[in-house]
Amino acid sequence: MISEREAAKYPFLKEAVALVEVLNLTLDDLSDPSHEKVLDRAERRVSQAILNGKTETDLGDSITELLSFPVANMFVNVMAEDFLDRRYALSEAVRTNALLEDESEDRIAKMARNEFDWNLRLVRERLDGKLYRFELRFGDYLRNAASFREPKWKLVNRLMREGYVLLTKPEAARLLQEEVQRRVYGFVSKHTRLNLPEPLRNKVDSLGKLLDENRSRLTGGDMPAEVRMDAIPPCIQHAFEGLMAGKRLSHMERFALTSFLIHAGMEIDDIVMLFVSVTDFDESFTRYQIEHIAGLRGSRTRYTPPTCATLRTHGVCYNPDGRCQRVKHPLSYYRFKVRDFQQDEEDKQVEPSNTNTEH
Ligand code: SF4
Repeated sequence: MISEREAAKYPFLKEAVALVEVLNLTLDDLSDPSHEKVLDRAERRVSQAILNGKTETDLGDSITELLSFPVANMFVNVMAEDFLDRRYALSEAVRTNALLEDESEDRIAKMARNEFDWNLRLVRERLDGKLYRFELRFGDYLRNAASFREPKWKLVNRLMREGYVLLTKPEAARLLQEEVQRRVYGFVSKHTRLNLPEPLRNKVDSLGKLLDENRSRLTGGDMPAEVRMDAIPPCIQHAFEGLMAGKRLSHMERFALTSFLIHAGMEIDDIVMLFVSVTDFDESFTRYQIEHIAGLRGSRTRYTPPTCATLRTHGVCYNPDGRCQRVKHPLSYYRFKVRDFQQDEEDKQVEPSNTNTEH
């Protein structure tokens, strides 16, 4: 049986979730002033994710800490922002990673095996100046390290033995972070519609405001008023040109292109016309799909384009250029390129007057 303190540290564990479930708390219960501290802590969990990208653990009151997790999940769920889902899940996972640093190897192994079905063995070997404490079956390793860019995570650079990859303790914790992130993302990304009582609704509203105030800082800068087609990344350019050439795009290409253009500021009508004018798509069906992606229908989630890693997995990443090496998301590519263009244009405007002053 898990202790309250342990559940508060790792509230995503099955036993911790079960511990909260037996309390059978309703939305009305949570609105009661006796749960004010839980709501405040839940709000702080989400605001820390928005502002810092890392949630801090607060074990001063274990039960408040534990209960605040599902409440924070509910806030994120209701806010229905794909971007926030990912940021919040990452923040909780980073928090977990920090805690795992102080855990024993046995504790880490127990979590890895019981919660995430890792095929993991404890070892103790010092090789090349590193202390290896685990051997992880390579399938489990790949599932979690596949999206890492640092060369040290590439399988060719790993020490392997009979299908097991050797890991140091921080490396095992880093891979577990990926599992935790996926699990938390699963908790928050369903986007349930709930009729929240006022105290909870007020928290969601103020978090929505905080997210809006910080959105452009977090996503790499403001978008220009008009879509700058000269700044779109190669993958989107390729999908766009394919569409214009009458090619039937894959589902992922259509989704990436549509969600990208929505975020880049193209009017819904214009996106609909792009598809309808070059394909035989039914206009009302196409419009419905585009409005769904824009968050105007259905779950009301405004979908962000997939990350570069996802696009690579689906074969949509096309001919990446030098700038692609420095980004993980097509929208970051776009924002940085737009910013560079704007900087160049400002520099050009300044140059003539400098020249005049000199003469
Ligand atoms: S690296 Fe990213 S932005 Fe560049 S082409 Fe591939 S998916 Fe697009």
